[in-house]
Amino acid sequence: QNSQTGWNFDNTYARLPEFFFTKQEAKPVRSPKLIVLNEPLAAELGLDPAELRSEVNVAVLAGSGLPPGAEPLAQAYAGHQFGYFTMLGDGRALLLGEQIAPGGDRFDIQLKGSGRTPYSRGGDGRAALGPMLREYIISEAMHALGIPTTRSLAVVTTGETVVREQGLCGAILTRIAASHVRVGTFQYAAQFGEPADVRTLADYVIQRHYPQLATLADTGKDGRYLALLREAIQRQASLIAKWQLVGFIHGVMNTDNMVLSGETIDYGPCAFMDAYDPATVFSSIDRQGRYAYGNQPSIAVWNLSRFAESLLPLLHDEEEQAVQLAEEALKGFAGQFEAAWLQGMRSKLGLFDEQAEDVVLIKDLLDLMHQHHADFTNTFLALTFGRLEEPAMAGTSEWSDWLARWQARLAGQMESPETVRELMRRSNPAVIPRNHRVEEALEAAVERDDYSVMQRLLKVLAQPFAHTPEQAEFAELPAACDRPYRTFC
Ligand code: AMP
Ligand code: MG
Ligand code: MG
Repeated sequence: QNSQTGWNFDNTYARLPEFFFTKQEAKPVRSPKLIVLNEPLAAELGLDPAELRSEVNVAVLAGSGLPPGAEPLAQAYAGHQFGYFTMLGDGRALLLGEQIAPGGDRFDIQLKGSGRTPYSRGGDGRAALGPMLREYIISEAMHALGIPTTRSLAVVTTGETVVREQGLCGAILTRIAASHVRVGTFQYAAQFGEPADVRTLADYVIQRHYPQLATLADTGKDGRYLALLREAIQRQASLIAKWQLVGFIHGVMNTDNMVLSGETIDYGPCAFMDAYDPATVFSSIDRQGRYAYGNQPSIAVWNLSRFAESLLPLLHDEEEQAVQLAEEALKGFAGQFEAAWLQGMRSKLGLFDEQAEDVVLIKDLLDLMHQHHADFTNTFLALTFGRLEEPAMAGTSEWSDWLARWQARLAGQMESPETVRELMRRSNPAVIPRNHRVEEALEAAVERDDYSVMQRLLKVLAQPFAHTPEQAEFAELPAACDRPYRTFC
């Protein structure tokens, strides 16, 4: 540790070959102002929240100054966007370096919205306050829901205007991540580098996220790169199952937005589903529904296949063998996803043991919810608290039949009703970041400089399994609206 604030930097990414990044200073901004600071996260990182509020550190969070030991850079990457391969890179972000937390864990500190870089293409490198606060709110909600995710340490405004359709208030988000190595980083190395670059990157990822694999053999079916592929697949299967279980729709699952750490990243057009429908899409640019709720598992496999392709030369000396090993590993996703999802669904329904007919019981519930446009989150809440008249399908004979089957299934378990309810309380959130609540918080912040609405929302979202009366208020659905909810990148 080398400062009063607690900054404790290392820069392993900056020590990779220069091929992987461009060194880049941030551009000082006119008048940085701290809007929101995540004090519990600061403490986890070993940073003193009071010190972070000082002028010097607010300048750091705005990219106008550097923490001691930082070596800022823009990362190079490529990726498939909506299926089309392109060169990308940090066009509006800077990696300051890696903060070593008191427990020894390493976290990327990234500024998002910090100005142009060599990877900006036509963009201005800047971000507006609304979208940065939106990422802050939803990423922190995801964390509280127990879903692996990048986190948000702070949002500062820059005092500058960002030109979009109209002039908007400029802002910078400080994003904290286990790392920012993406499937797209591997695609960049495979496409534009030498095989040695892919190996360097793979070894880096193993060191950082899968250290238990470091001692395995080089190539072949017992090699560490195949093991890396398998582990990455497992983490994504587990992550996407968690998304599905809370109704999270990422919205832009391009390969540059899938990271090898297994965290959720890039909160652009994401949103939570209200009424259950696998075809749900919120993103205004996703016209084909490529990234619809129900497509997320298969898109994950598509992205992981691009990762596997980048690794092929490391998997086996013979290409045919390498392809076969990769395909076998990719086939594992379906079973791993299904198992994680089924386990989660059983918990949501209070089921402790496993029975073959559970799959049908769950599917029939989802079908009923779909047919009757029942709210996903609130249907499970209603089941948790025995409010069986609440869901949209209440009053139908199909619902009575389903409830009778579920109750018979519960009665066949050893666990008491109290224990069952306890499991359901822990598995069904009282609140998710409802779209209208998020919009209301952003509007107060952006239009009226009033951050109290957002602070209250953040407080409620931080305890999704607490089931308090205040949260019940936030579980309420919005008034019926004739326009579907839309999100933007
Ligand atoms: P995303 O859709 O957020 O995954 O971003 C895709 C690519 O566009 C990344 O390379 C970003 O760095 C870049 N990008 C997004 N917004 C801007 C901006 N305002 N200026 C420059 N580059 C940007
Ligand atoms: Mg992105
Ligand atoms: Mg984005």
